[in-house]
Amino acid sequence: MFELDVANVFQTNIKKIIDGQEVLPWKYYRHNEDSTNTFEVRIVKIDHSDELIIIIRDISNRERAEKLIWKQANFDSLTSLPNRKMFLETLDKEIIKKTDNQQKLALLFIDLDHFKEVNDTLGHHVGDMLLKEVAQRLSHCIRQSDIVARLGGDEFTIIMNDISSPHVIDDTTQRIIDKISEPILIGENTCYISPSIGIALYPEDFIDAKDLIKAADQAMFSAKKAGRNRYHYYQSIMQESAIKRMTLLTDLRRAVEIDEFKLFYQPIIDMKTGEIKKAEALIRWFHPTQGLIPPDQFIGLAEETGLIFPMGSWVVKEASEKIKLFSSHFGEDFQMSINISPLQFMTSHNNNNEWIKTIEKFAQADAIILEITENLLMNATREIRNKFQLFADKGVAIAIDDFGTGYSSLAYIKEYDVDFLKIDQSFVNSLLPQSDDYILCEAIVVMAHKLGIQVVAEGVEAEEQCELLKLMGCDFAQGYYFSRPCDDEAFINLQKQFSI
Ligand code: C2E
Ligand code: CA
Ligand code: CA
Repeated sequence: MFELDVANVFQTNIKKIIDGQEVLPWKYYRHNEDSTNTFEVRIVKIDHSDELIIIIRDISNRERAEKLIWKQANFDSLTSLPNRKMFLETLDKEIIKKTDNQQKLALLFIDLDHFKEVNDTLGHHVGDMLLKEVAQRLSHCIRQSDIVARLGGDEFTIIMNDISSPHVIDDTTQRIIDKISEPILIGENTCYISPSIGIALYPEDFIDAKDLIKAADQAMFSAKKAGRNRYHYYQSIMQESAIKRMTLLTDLRRAVEIDEFKLFYQPIIDMKTGEIKKAEALIRWFHPTQGLIPPDQFIGLAEETGLIFPMGSWVVKEASEKIKLFSSHFGEDFQMSINISPLQFMTSHNNNNEWIKTIEKFAQADAIILEITENLLMNATREIRNKFQLFADKGVAIAIDDFGTGYSSLAYIKEYDVDFLKIDQSFVNSLLPQSDDYILCEAIVVMAHKLGIQVVAEGVEAEEQCELLKLMGCDFAQGYYFSRPCDDEAFINLQKQFSI
């Protein structure tokens, strides 16, 4: 039954026991064709007797269970890559090795661009398949000596060992970007995804694992900010901007809690009558020490952190509350236009019913216009379509914001109950007779009217632009030429200026 060396172990141990030495149980492995059985062998000397008992126990099941538990604790079940725990342990070990041998190491922090949108629009099942495919592609891009792990969500890391020249890092990272950016076919969906990658170096940047991870994360964030689908190396200046961002985020959390926001209103003028018919509600943050912070500086952060949900609900409520007062000054058909982040429509974090309740509590649903951007319609799933329909059924109007900057396809606009197109300021700002922008704006107006959609021109700053827009039949205009966004009191006072 036993092979030779097994027999030897046996003999040695029996001898030891007879000599009065302690012998711990040992394992004996029996390899079968498609599995391995493990036996635990234990020899016990019976007290006050000259007899020995040999106990051989089959512990294969226990062994398998332990292996499974170890695997579950150290590997990601979706991609089979090492998980965060395993990654942290490996990084620590590699750093110790490198310190002993005075070698270098590069840490890559990889985050997928717009993964959340894919997950939300095509569903978690597609999201999971995508992550699996990305994991495989990553594994194929790296060298034997490198280690790839999944930190969680759409975040991956790579520990690059054996860095003989800096080109190795650049080449591997570029290969990763190229490979991940290739279309991924999942069922009947073709997904396009790209990575943003941050790189930190041991020992140049940091010598501690935690610092190194933080540095790679900051470099990744900098790559995202620079336009995604690229890689950045860590620079110490990133530490400063990361600290600023963290401070802003802490302040923003507090601002949402204790309500440091205010809505400003910018009038939207009826081109035929010159009257104020609508207002766009624009959020402002009154920071206790920094003063007024414009939305461009915090909406992005609010979207990334989910703070956009409570903030957005607050905007809907605050704007709805004002409608009655504004209508009493500007007429019963006055409408309030509210900006909605695409995220608020996409996620399962669904406030839409809550919005409708809020709106209906304070005003008629048709006194509200929701401003959304085009890309929301481009990637709309059935779920998003249903949400639009829900608003349309209630009588809430929909406006496409910043029209002309995205795909500008009128085909999909026809599919939805779109009421207004808002021509982006970039076309209006440079409007001159017979210019390309004039032709473009006029074409938008003509096509929109054919589809029964009204047009609002944004960013009107000069009388000449206003005249040209009138000439082409644009329905509404908004811009500094009429008024800057202002608080509710100042907005009501505009009535005197704009009544006929
Ligand atoms: P937007 O929706 O395109 O809003 C128009 C922006 O153009 C406003 O900037 C407004 O002050 C500015 N503007 C208006 N007339 C003129 C003009 O004649 N010339 C120029 N140069 N600019 C003009 P603001 O208030 O800083 O808002 C910036 C962006 O922040 C908005 O762009 C919108 O996307 C976002 N935002 C504002 N409030 C909210 C909100 O409550 N929720 C969400 N999700 N986003 C908001
Ligand atoms: Ca807007
Ligand atoms: Ca706009």
